Parts: sequence; structure tokens; C-alpha cells
Amino acid sequence: MPLYDFHCASCGRMFEELGPADAPPPACPACGGKTRRLMSVGRGYRADADWIASVTEVVDKDSRAPHVRAFLDSPDRATYRSWLRGERIRPLEAGEGKRPRDPGRETAGQVCREVLERFAARRG
Ligand SMILES: [Zn+2]
Repeated sequence: MPLYDFHCASCGRMFEELGPADAPPPACPACGGKTRRLMSVGRGYRADADWIASVTEVVDKDSRAPHVRAFLDSPDRATYRSWLRGERIRPLEAGEGKRPRDPGRETAGQVCREVLERFAARRG
């Protein structure tokens, strides 16, 4: 039986479960809410899914902002990028996404300060 990714519409949790392709989505193991099967896009996606799930945990679930709703309704790379833009967080550059980050801490101001500090260190 294939392994599928599911996303809970109530609490935003993502989880994997084995099952036949035509089975209805299982209830959320965390809150019992309704879940939706996520489209599988191969191996690359699974690595992404880990950090996307960790992002959904820090997202403000009560927010009514469209970029937040879109991301929580359907957490994937595209809605994640829109969410980053909406939160004014710099998206990861190519090759930068090897380890999970705390997107709440990586603000444009912080990146700017790091650059200035490195510049100051170089000048002695
Ligand atoms: Zn749930």
C-alpha cells in the first residue's frame, strides 16, 4: 500500500499514513478533525514536508490575513512563499534550505544587521 501525506484542516498538522488509493482521508490523529490528502510530488516533497509542517506550527492560526489562510488551507511550497512575502520574511535562496529554520526569527532587519556586523569585523 502506498504512503500518503495528509493535512488536517482544523489544527494544521501534517502526517503520513499507509492506505489504499481510494480510501477516504483518516481523521486527524491529533484533534480528530477532517483531513485532506496532499498531492504527492515525489521524494523532494517529503523533505520539504518536514519543515512545512514545522512552519504551520508557528503560523498564527487565528489570523484572517489571506496569505496566512492560503498557507494553512494548503501548505505547500507556493503558499509558503506567499506566506513569507506576507510576513515580510526573506525566502530561502537556492541551496539554503538544507536545514529547518525558524522563519519567525529571520527578519529582513536581522539579515541586514548580520551583514553590517560581518562588514565591521572585516574592517577590524
Ligand atoms: Zn487536527
